[in-house]
Amino acid sequence: MNWQPTFKFDPGHTFPVFAEVDALVVGGGAAGVAAAETIGRSGHKVLLIERYGFCGGGAVAGLSGTICGLYMSTDAPGAKPEQTVFGFADRFRRRMIDMGGLTDPIQYGKTWTVTHDPLIWREAADGFLQEANVQILYHCQVVGVIMEDDQFRGVIVNSKSGLAAVHAKRIIDASGDADVIYRAGFKTSKGRDGVIQNPTMIFRIGGIDVNAFNEYWGKDSISPKKVIDQLIDADPSGKELPRKKIWIFNTSRPDELMVNATRILGRDGRDLDVTDPVDHSEGELTAREQVRAYHKFLREHIPGCENAFVVDTGVEIGIRQTRSIAGIKTLSNDDVTGRRKFSDGVVRSPWPIELHSGDKPYVEWLLDDFYEVPYGTLVPETGENLIVAGRCLSSEHEALASCRVTAQCFGYGHAAGLATVQSLNEQAAYRSLSGADLREQLNRDGAAL
Ligand SMILES: Cc1cc2nc3c(=O)[nH]c(=O)nc-3n(C[C@H](O)[C@H](O)[C@H](O)COP(=O)(O)OP(=O)(O)OC[C@H]3O[C@@H](n4cnc5c(N)ncnc54)[C@H](O)[C@@H]3O)c2cc1C
Repeated sequence: MNWQPTFKFDPGHTFPVFAEVDALVVGGGAAGVAAAETIGRSGHKVLLIERYGFCGGGAVAGLSGTICGLYMSTDAPGAKPEQTVFGFADRFRRRMIDMGGLTDPIQYGKTWTVTHDPLIWREAADGFLQEANVQILYHCQVVGVIMEDDQFRGVIVNSKSGLAAVHAKRIIDASGDADVIYRAGFKTSKGRDGVIQNPTMIFRIGGIDVNAFNEYWGKDSISPKKVIDQLIDADPSGKELPRKKIWIFNTSRPDELMVNATRILGRDGRDLDVTDPVDHSEGELTAREQVRAYHKFLREHIPGCENAFVVDTGVEIGIRQTRSIAGIKTLSNDDVTGRRKFSDGVVRSPWPIELHSGDKPYVEWLLDDFYEVPYGTLVPETGENLIVAGRCLSSEHEALASCRVTAQCFGYGHAAGLATVQSLNEQAAYRSLSGADLREQLNRDGAAL
């Protein structure tokens, strides 16, 4: 079925007005939290709207589980984790450590990541936002836009009480899905020719003998070859266990592991488009079946997991990719593989291309180096008073498979937040701001670019 994408009103609309703010942040994922906190700290009036009752998005509702993208990749024997991303990402990392919600760095192939506790993630985000005087509106979904020609003037919000308008001088679309841009009818694209990366339902298992597990599995969270072979032997057809290269992480809790193993497809084996609710629903159903299949495999085949029980799954299947905006700049695949740096680079990424498609995710390492993401990838080619933060930035398909992870999403939020403050202070359009100048501001705010 063809759904109607746009829901547009002019400033003379008749909806009750819930708030008039300097800045509205749509979505409380990593990017939205960083953007709202940054704007709030500047003293501007900022409202964050989130459809769930907590922040975290893919990291918490999707239980993505670890903060990737902080550390350099390397082949060097005996190398130790070298942190290369700072700014808001590092402030969040340190807060999570203080709250007991983050592990030490865990090996992930040729780099490292840190596992976070999703409950503490929510509490850390609540703390950051409240300290910065951000008004939070949970359980509300942005469903429409208020436009005057191509100028965004606000949004329409749906809640259990009904519909209301929010008027905002600036909007940060941190919905992950570019919902605000989409509602306005502006250009977006999806993956490679409409095919996006496979979602994954992540789950945690308890009752684990972690020492026995670690001894068998090894230090690397990516499955060793013997486990890949066991997965192939257990289900050669790939019907029940469709992904053979899986990741399992120790967590900050005793006797527990976090499992990133499932590969969510349609029942007929097709790639799903999770912006379509029919596909999205089918994905949730098959995901729960796959969680049970991988749970059974782990109990039967992996030492330390004999008594494993499923603690929980994500609130929803984890969605890696949906819509990307058409920005005034686009991060290309060559920018990533060529480790390109930009004078207007506002975020740094050492994370590999980690493309989830097929029975083994494709990983391409960026050894001992990183690339930068230019400011213009956050600015839509059409539409004023709006900037994007997070995984819906303007990016080619393989590039997005690298630049979408949490540390970088914190970075996009940090950059979009500072751009919003400058745009408000100088009454300047986002597209007229200098990315090189923004980079300096980010450095003064701890980004160490
Ligand atoms: C299965 C999986 C595993 C992953 N593993 C890792 C990992 O190990 N480490 C890592 O660093 N990254 C990982 N990632 C990537 C990472 O989690 C995400 O890319 C990142 O969290 C995206 O952040 P974001 O803020 O851009 O968007 P999201 O996290 O998608 O946040 C968007 C927020 O907006 C809200 N929202 C959406 N639409 C609306 C609306 N219309 N109105 C109001 N609210 C709305 C959503 O509820 C959500 O909270 C993984 C992702 C997936 C899916």
